[in-house]
Amino acid sequence: MALYVMKFGGSSVGDTERMKRVAQRVVDKQKEGHQCVVVVSAMGDTTDDLIDQAKLLSEAPPAREMDMLMTTGEQISIALLSIALHELGSKAVSFTGWQAGFRTEAEFGRARITDIDPVRVQQALEDGQIVVVAGFQGMTVEGEITTFGRGGSDTTAVAMAAAIKADVCEIYTDVDGVYSTDPRIVKCARKLNEISYDEMLELANLGAAVLHPRAVEYAKHHQVKLVVRSSFNHNEGTVVKEEVTMEQGVVVSGIAYDKNVARISIIGVSHVPGVLAKVFGSLAAAKIDVDIIVQSGVTDGEADFSFTVALTDRDQALEVLREIREELPYKEVTTEDNLVKVSIVGAGMVSHPGVAAQMFDVISKQGVNISMVSTSEIKVSCVIEAGKLTEVVQALHTAYGLDTSEQAFVGGPKERR
Ligand code: ADP
Ligand code: ASP
Ligand code: MG
Repeated sequence: MALYVMKFGGSSVGDTERMKRVAQRVVDKQKEGHQCVVVVSAMGDTTDDLIDQAKLLSEAPPAREMDMLMTTGEQISIALLSIALHELGSKAVSFTGWQAGFRTEAEFGRARITDIDPVRVQQALEDGQIVVVAGFQGMTVEGEITTFGRGGSDTTAVAMAAAIKADVCEIYTDVDGVYSTDPRIVKCARKLNEISYDEMLELANLGAAVLHPRAVEYAKHHQVKLVVRSSFNHNEGTVVKEEVTMEQGVVVSGIAYDKNVARISIIGVSHVPGVLAKVFGSLAAAKIDVDIIVQSGVTDGEADFSFTVALTDRDQALEVLREIREELPYKEVTTEDNLVKVSIVGAGMVSHPGVAAQMFDVISKQGVNISMVSTSEIKVSCVIEAGKLTEVVQALHTAYGLDTSEQAFVGGPKERR
């Protein structure tokens, strides 16, 4: 007998028919003699729809109320899945994030888990029940409801798996596993049988939606055995683990892209010590993550510099810059948001000079300008205009020898907003 955490994402529980199929899959697992904790996301596009409704009422809805609103999506899913499990004759019980014991810091919309007390989950398991837990939500010690950030149900699953010492955490989604790049935009993307925590973390941080970055962080830290697989078939998925056998000669193992990018430029700021510290200190105090920073020259004692933030943080970042203008005068601030960050990732890159140069060459051959670059030992990222994203990713995929002749499995259409 093994203890499984099985997480099903939004498209896997997109309607009641799919919900029934998920219920059957869980019951089958239990009949094989295993214990199951199931984590579910909101159905289909529910979370996006809820956000749209709030935006009809306010341009800047309060973060607390947004979490109150968004957590309802997952609560519908847990109740419906539990009902479907009962209908199949199983004993099942649903828990919200807080009932399942998730405590978080008081940071609405992107709360980190501070502690998990899974006592109710464990009691229900001992009782022979299937436990259904709502993804991406928790509660602060003061009793406020919080969410973990978009895509955060993966983190619920992995953190729960660590807390109850599950044997495996399975992430069921709408593709067969982790691919060399998003199989929705590159049809000949290659499915990876295994990937290391570090490479997966890099890909997830750089925009590969298939796993939430914090879920991978958790899995690495607690050495959770993580498998990504499809909820639409029984194909073997991708195992995410510490050590993987490196294929000979593979320099780039994956390509990711992130559309959630905005560039902000500050023009004409005095070139004196402490300017960068002031700007980025203020952004950090507002909990805004800054990604790439470029200083673009000094004229007459005045400097210009640009940086990127998540598009979803742009307005808040502009507000911070307005607040510090008196203390730190600048001529103007400009923004650009029709951008995307494309990244190549590979542990083999360290020992291969010229990988970045090849990337720049491939992108330029697509007639695309690169506006910013950042590198680390195992990745190179370029910010480019969004229009030619598909062509650029496809060209890079071919150039680094990642194309395969097999068609990737993609479970139904999905228009990402
Ligand atoms: P879920 O609703 O199951 O959480 P997500 O939409 O969050 O699903 O994640 C699955 C999607 O991730 C896939 O449909 C695919 O388009 C996208 N994706 C991006 N990069 C990758 C990758 N390298 N491998 C697999 N899927 C990827
Ligand atoms: N429902 C949430 C979202 O759409 C959490 C998740 O699906 O992981 O972001
Ligand atoms: Mg997801």
